[in-house]
Amino acid sequence: MDRIKCDTHTHTLYSRHAYSTIEENVRAAAERGLELLATTDHYSQMLYPDVHIRHYQYLFNQTALPRHWHGVTVLRGCEADIIDGEGHLFGHGIPVEENIVGMRYENVQDLDRFIASKLDYMIASIHGTSHTEGMPAAQGTKMYINALAQEKVLILGHIGRSSVKFELDPVLLEAKARNKLIELNEHSFDMGSGDTVRRCRQIACRCGELGVLVSLGTDAHVSCDVGRFGKVAAMLEEIHFPKELIASRTRESFLEVIRKSGVSELEGL
Ligand SMILES: [Zn+2]
Ligand SMILES: [Zn+2]
Repeated sequence: MDRIKCDTHTHTLYSRHAYSTIEENVRAAAERGLELLATTDHYSQMLYPDVHIRHYQYLFNQTALPRHWHGVTVLRGCEADIIDGEGHLFGHGIPVEENIVGMRYENVQDLDRFIASKLDYMIASIHGTSHTEGMPAAQGTKMYINALAQEKVLILGHIGRSSVKFELDPVLLEAKARNKLIELNEHSFDMGSGDTVRRCRQIACRCGELGVLVSLGTDAHVSCDVGRFGKVAAMLEEIHFPKELIASRTRESFLEVIRKSGVSELEGL
């Protein structure tokens, strides 16, 4: 398989349990020959005990980052928790009434929409099982379909290890209809059991059969893992996955899918 040129899912120190700076990740991407790196720190209940706009400055000030850095295109993203069976994202129902220095906003919006408006795209993922335990498959399906409907959500993150019951085909076909992406996550192969690996492979096979676009993310939590797709790439090779369905194979193919999906106009690119 040709080398994949984009890493669509990476974390920095701002995720609190990750260990590299954004520049270390960008340099690692450049060294591995990537054309594009998306920085997608957690936007999640796992970070802070309370929810306040001040905690999420690392997300909404990403316009401070150069678009091109050490020869790599940098996209501004996040990995948002799906917080309920309706597919709402973290920050839903939390009004942002004031800015980080305490000045009142005239137009109050919810935190999820506020954060979304500042980013190129979001990955929607399940972390933890408190709201998904015992959830019927029909609800899990609805949850993922609704998450895909959120305007800034481009990618469903690591659905192969979410331990949520859902019907695969309707979710994959919804992604296809919206020009959005199902993630194949390298980290799932490292941390997952045999069942998880089998599930990831089944999802990839079905994406291939149904013509659903996928993105490859390392989910790197340290810079040396950026751009390393060894296990996912080997699996895709084995199942003869159609290369044209890998949206993240090049910078141009990935940016084109983002534009087509309507998620972002990619200002400055
Ligand atoms: Zn995740
Ligand atoms: Zn992640």
